[in-house]
Amino acid sequence: MQGEPITRSLTLNLYIYHKQPQHMQFDVIVIGSGPGGYVAAIRCAQLGMKTAIVEKYNTFGGTCLNVGCIPSKALLDSSEHYYNASHTFATHGIDIKGLKVNLAQMIKRKDQVVQENTSGIAYLMKKNKITTFLGTGSFKDKNTVVVTKEDGAAEEISATNVIIATGSKPTALPFLPVDKKRIITSTEALNLSEVPKHLIVIGGGVIGLELGSVYARLGAKITVVEFLDGIIATMDRTLSKELQKSLARLGFDFKLSHKVSKAEVKGKNVVVTASNAKGEEVEIEGDYCIVAVGRTAYTQGLGLENIGIKTEERGGKIPVNDHLETEVKGVYAIGDVVKGAMLAHKAEEEGVYVAERIAGQKPHINYNLIPGVVYTWPEVASVGATEEQLKESKKAYKSGSFPFKASGRARASMDTDGLVKVLADKETDEILGVHIIGPRAADMIAEAVVAMEFRAAAEDIGRICHAHPTYTEAFKEAALAATENRALHM
Ligand code: FAD
Ligand code: NAD
Repeated sequence: MQGEPITRSLTLNLYIYHKQPQHMQFDVIVIGSGPGGYVAAIRCAQLGMKTAIVEKYNTFGGTCLNVGCIPSKALLDSSEHYYNASHTFATHGIDIKGLKVNLAQMIKRKDQVVQENTSGIAYLMKKNKITTFLGTGSFKDKNTVVVTKEDGAAEEISATNVIIATGSKPTALPFLPVDKKRIITSTEALNLSEVPKHLIVIGGGVIGLELGSVYARLGAKITVVEFLDGIIATMDRTLSKELQKSLARLGFDFKLSHKVSKAEVKGKNVVVTASNAKGEEVEIEGDYCIVAVGRTAYTQGLGLENIGIKTEERGGKIPVNDHLETEVKGVYAIGDVVKGAMLAHKAEEEGVYVAERIAGQKPHINYNLIPGVVYTWPEVASVGATEEQLKESKKAYKSGSFPFKASGRARASMDTDGLVKVLADKETDEILGVHIIGPRAADMIAEAVVAMEFRAAAEDIGRICHAHPTYTEAFKEAALAATENRALHM
């Protein structure tokens, strides 16, 4: 139907419906209701397509809303309040007596936040007249999906187009059996019944550092065991080093260049074995261990074999072309289950993209400008090329930085850790990358994304009025520093 008017497909569907009354017939079936799937469904419905969504679990929203972005941010916010109350309130002139952590209430509030968000998606499905099916979706053929409910009851639905948005699951290491009690994944870490005394985090990536931060703020000792020689390794090295310093001040211990080979539960403890850069074996004992070594595309039970789709050997992702269509015409795949960053906002963009492609439009996604954020404190946010990438590609660039300790706003809020770094083309001054570690970096990065989408020069940002006092002035100052080394407050 790609490139054809919707009306034609609707007529076609009506025809098929009369011929095969036992199948409910749609223009589009979306399998999976995470940020990729539910956004795709909404956009399809907005474009006039008769849309169905199939979700295996009893709530909508996928990993992101149920066990990912939203619950982790809820706990990050709660733990940050506690940390500030215990560490900075006195300096602000606020004295509190009898401060203590009520973890059960923290988890309960997090659950309420999740419930509000997931029921919000159910409301959006209804509002957009999207037909919902709860059950596992599996291909019978390229146009027919069998939905099997928990009790085994099955029904078939058909569509001209199917969008696979089945997301990802935590990567399992064969030598690290997760028992979900002492050796856990991010999912269990969102529901602990006690604050660990010593939490061992395997993997110095986003999940490990965010969830490690939650429990560090609540008083746990955290040891991060990371295979590479730096944390958040895909981001600009400056951010990695700065974040490591900040987290060390929070009580994190880092064992970098350590390859984990084993974890064993011993009573109420876990012993993790790793080999260091010299090849020596190191044992670390804690009461909990989170395995956060990445996520793997999830396609189990989808029946891809019935339509001849083979997943990639490494990572299990579904191969797609530049238009996110699989090798089977009319079957698309988006989000974590396909190539690219495993991020909710990337999945959402792809959901909109595919819906518009199916409707015959010519949408576009700028994959170079998908921001990455780590919700530690200070927050870390980044868009565009890293300095390491520019060096590797031998691009002539200039760099300007501005530290938050020189920002009046940051001093006022006692958030002086971190900096903004702007990388610009040496010849044209076009901004090539922006890397921020500091207060509200997650929100600040939006300005950089807009600037880069419009191909702004560093000087453009330096000449734009930024409200005072705000953290965003640090971006302007870093841009000025990159332009002609003429930051005003440094
Ligand atoms: P998912 O959200 O994984 O949704 C897939 C859905 O498909 C699931 O509901 C699943 O049940 C369903 N499904 C699977 N198979 C079938 C089937 N056969 N039939 C029916 N339904 C099926 N990203 C960010 O951008 N920002 C963050 O702050 C962030 N924080 C995170 C924190 C944690 C702890 C984790 C684990 C992840 C986080 N992520 C974050 C990543 C983000 O959650 C994912 O990138 C995003 O959810 C991917 O969306 P998706 O729609 O591709 O898949
Ligand atoms: P990650 O890829 O960010 O980090 C995993 C880390 O584990 C890597 O640094 C890797 O070198 C290390 N590692 C792998 N094997 C190891 C071993 N045997 N021993 C020691 N270290 C090992 O993965 P993650 O933190 O699990 O997150 C998964 C995905 O979820 C990411 O792709 C991320 O994009 C997404 N996510 C995003 C956010 C966010 O946007 N704020 C938050 C959470 C998760």
